[in-house]
Amino acid sequence: MPKKAKERKGKKVKKKHPKHLKSTLYEVKGDVVERKRRSCPKCGPGILMAEHKDRLNCGKCGYTEFKEKKGSE
Ligand SMILES: [Zn+2]
Repeated sequence: MPKKAKERKGKKVKKKHPKHLKSTLYEVKGDVVERKRRSCPKCGPGILMAEHKDRLNCGKCGYTEFKEKKGSE
């Protein structure tokens, strides 16, 4: 079923930059590299954990660490 028939009007396709670039995982300040994400305690410092809404998850070993809920203001 041709669902996308209406979307074919414009030839110009805006490419949106993905928000999850690997470069955003680190922030370099001078000579110091700040890690924005925690590394997996099981896999070691080389493996960063994926950040979810309320938890951190290691895609390698499956380790999950729940974020501490801070009191609502
Ligand atoms: Zn792990």
